[in-house]
Amino acid sequence: MKFDTKQIAASLKKQIEDFLSDTSKKEVGSVVSVGDDIAAVYGLPGAMLGELLLFPGGHYGLVMNLSEDSIDCALLNGEGDIKEGDYVYRTKKVVEVPVGDALLGRVMGALGNPIDGKGEIITSSFRPVERVAPSIMRRQGIDTPLITGIRAIDAMIPIGRGQRELIIGDRQTGKTAIAIDAIVAQKDTGVKCIYCAIGQKTSSVAYLVDVLQKLGCLDYTCVVTASSSEPAPQLYLAPYSAMAMAEEWMEKGEDVLVVFDDLSKHAIAYRTLSLLLRRSPGREAYPGDIFYLHSRLLERACRLSAKEGGGSITALPIIETQEGDFSAYIPTNVISITDGQIYLNSDLFNSGHRPAIDSGLSVSRVGSNAQHPCMKKVGGGMKIDLASYQENLAFSQFGSDLDSDTRAILTHGGVLDAALVQKNRHPEKEEKQTIILYAVREGLFDEIAPHDIPSFLEGFYFYGSAAKPGLIRRIAETHDLDREAMAEIRELATDYLKEHQED
Ligand code: ATP
Ligand code: MG
Repeated sequence: MKFDTKQIAASLKKQIEDFLSDTSKKEVGSVVSVGDDIAAVYGLPGAMLGELLLFPGGHYGLVMNLSEDSIDCALLNGEGDIKEGDYVYRTKKVVEVPVGDALLGRVMGALGNPIDGKGEIITSSFRPVERVAPSIMRRQGIDTPLITGIRAIDAMIPIGRGQRELIIGDRQTGKTAIAIDAIVAQKDTGVKCIYCAIGQKTSSVAYLVDVLQKLGCLDYTCVVTASSSEPAPQLYLAPYSAMAMAEEWMEKGEDVLVVFDDLSKHAIAYRTLSLLLRRSPGREAYPGDIFYLHSRLLERACRLSAKEGGGSITALPIIETQEGDFSAYIPTNVISITDGQIYLNSDLFNSGHRPAIDSGLSVSRVGSNAQHPCMKKVGGGMKIDLASYQENLAFSQFGSDLDSDTRAILTHGGVLDAALVQKNRHPEKEEKQTIILYAVREGLFDEIAPHDIPSFLEGFYFYGSAAKPGLIRRIAETHDLDREAMAEIRELATDYLKEHQED
């Protein structure tokens, strides 16, 4: 056998090189101190911000602070039995979550780990949780509606695909209900949904998952949750994980709806984490980068240009206010980041006017660009009508002698206001909203007492769907309301009123 010395030398050299590069992969440091789910580590000069470090027992820590002589990590699963002197290894990886269609129907923790007992999530695609938002050149304007099925929103505060619309209100004002209705309304529309629960009780999330399952929404929805009992780093990461999952679909040209319930608790978790990391506290003890916390998250929601596939992420962040104070620090931050807000009023909610949307304070900055022609026609000027009703209502309480014009405004306003009352988990198709709202806006039902309106309108639509199925189909297909359709609705309303009076 003939030996080729050159070949042997080359092979040896390669082995030595591989051996050297292998050792360099295993950078090892040691724990200096550990406490409050934070570990200080010494001796990993190459570690990057946001990198994952591996601790004994398979624990991971997220690098949050880099200082000259140590690194502070947030321990993702709590401190367990990590102690001073333990070895710590670099992974050279940032936090990644599984993405793709395998997530649909699943309930996951903040890191995409399944927690629904349905076994592993089988996917080969992963994405880093943090990512820079698409540049302006990669985006396009918002012009396609995302129908929430809630009359007041679709008519007055329309949301477009790719928009960020804040849902803001006190405790127990129906914030979650609106977001869940929006998810339910996406059935058969092709929009995928992610519900991200941050800092909520496990029992309330389990209840919502059950609701979504019963309504048949889990086929196109997944849930990411970091409950109130989990360590602060999990709560901090959860929304970014959800956004990364949404981006995968968006980049494939699909439309996604993401709900963040809620970002107030997210801000509090980040404040806790920052204080533990000894970052200097600012206003309301929040750290200086609290605005960036939410802006870098919500900037990632957008509509991509046709060249990029035309996908979109619509974000519905939720913020909880204290005693209606939406001018507090975190609420104003998120208001300024989003493209509008749906403001929920607790007085309205408690008086039974649900959804308790305050039409005066709610706004969509994308506006009617995100409405189909039919909705534009029935929603135009509705806010003004309601405002004039509210104004006259307040005024009328001082005196009893009202002129006929004021009385007409009050009667019509009362009916219109009552027409916006809608039970939760009953989102409506656009054609139903169009027919009902057209009849109401035209004053065809002004003679009905407002408290009878919700059931009366249900009856009217039921009657209409039996009498004129063609009309409903036409509105659903064309998304428009032509003269002929308007005449048909008028006719329908007259017939139904006649029948109603005979009963
Ligand atoms: P929290 O501050 O606790 O998160 P929230 O603002 O998210 O509360 P929800 O949990 O959505 O409020 O709603 C509170 C209650 O009001 C729920 O029991 C819900 O079923 C009910 N509710 C919400 N919207 C409506 C509605 N449109 N019609 C009838 N009931 C409603
Ligand atoms: Mg809620």
